Formats: sequence, C-alpha cells, structure tokens
Amino acid sequence: MLPRRMKMKVCLVGEAAVGKTSLVRRFVLDDFDDAYAQTLGTRIYKHATTIAPGGTRLDVDMMVWDIMGQKGFRELLKDAYFYGAHGILAVADLTRRETFADLGGWIGGVREVAGEVPIVLLANKADLRDEAPVTESEVAGAAERYGAPYYLTSAKSGENVERAFRDLAERIAAPQRSPPGGAR
Ligand code: GDP
Ligand code: MG
Repeated sequence: MLPRRMKMKVCLVGEAAVGKTSLVRRFVLDDFDDAYAQTLGTRIYKHATTIAPGGTRLDVDMMVWDIMGQKGFRELLKDAYFYGAHGILAVADLTRRETFADLGGWIGGVREVAGEVPIVLLANKADLRDEAPVTESEVAGAAERYGAPYYLTSAKSGENVERAFRDLAERIAAPQRSPPGGAR
C-alpha cells in the first residue's frame, strides 16, 4: 500500500513566556535560544514527519501555529488562529503555577472554534523541575481537568519535545485508538 499523507494544523496555546516559541523551534529546528524574543502576532512553522498510528505508515505535514500570548490578543485573533485546527499543544510553565490555570481560558477558546480536537498538555521547563514550585501530581491533576495527556518537557534540553508533538499527531490521525488521559 502507498504511504498516506496528511496535513495537520496544530496550534500552540498558553501564556506569554511559557516556552511556546522555544518548543516549536526545538521540534522544527532542533535549536534553543536563551534570549526571549516576544512573538509578534502569529508565525507558522512547517515540519514533515512520519508516524505509524495502528501500524500504518502516515506521512504528516504539521503546520504549527505560534501565537503571541497576551490575553487581549487572544480575543482578537482566536477565530482566525483556531479555525480548522486539528489539535492543540497547551503549554504551561513548571516555574509559574498560574500558567496552568490560565490554560482553561485558552482551551475554552479552542473548543468554541475548533470543537473537540485532541489536546496535549506540555508542562515545560522541566530542566528546572528541582527548583520549580509545581509538582508532577499537580500537572497530572490539571491534565485530568482538561481531559488531556501530559508531558514534562524542556525546550532547553529537548526532553520529551519530539514525543509530545508526535503523540498529538498520532491522536489526530487515529483519535479512536488513543483516548486522552494520563499518558506520559
Ligand atoms: P513564549 O512566549 O511562550 O513563546 O516563550 P518563549 O519560547 O519565548 O520562552 C520564554 C523564555 O523562557 C525564554 O527566555 C526561553 O529561553 C525560556 N525557556 C523556554 N523554554 C524553556 C525550557 O524548557 N527551559 C528553560 N530553562 N527555559 C526555557
Ligand atoms: Mg513566543
């Protein structure tokens, strides 16, 4: 059988400075930059990869949409940003507890525009986990509330970044085979 090909629109959501731009740069370019460059408006990254949901090879073109994290912007852009999204990477910061609660607003916005698409929660900056106030069991609780699996990621070290993006792609390709909940 010829390999199948699928185009996926994936949106990054989460508050400013949680690491959205760093995560997509790690995934697409395998690169990390300590300097904080605030994203202006929206930027779209394209990355081709191959997954095998249920054992069948699938070539995937992921279009990853990176948005500026300010709340005012969210209201202004959310329809255009979330329109046609196949899945969501919801990013919070282990060093700032409030970024986990703030995901509720983002996920609500996604649900309004894109419906029940798969969501994967990324608890980022895991390289700082020893000094971080947020524990893994808190992350697990937040993930359960949002009905999403979670990963502790680090855009800095690369830990779990590829896994999280690929897990989302697999859930988009075969949602019935991988119901959300608890996976890491
Ligand atoms: P965004 O506003 O969500 O796009 O966040 P950025 O990707 O611009 O990152 C904000 C800041 O956090 C930058 O200074 C990054 O270098 C830093 N950062 C991002 N991810 C990580 C990470 O995994 N570990 C650490 N230690 N710093 C990170
Ligand atoms: Mg950014």
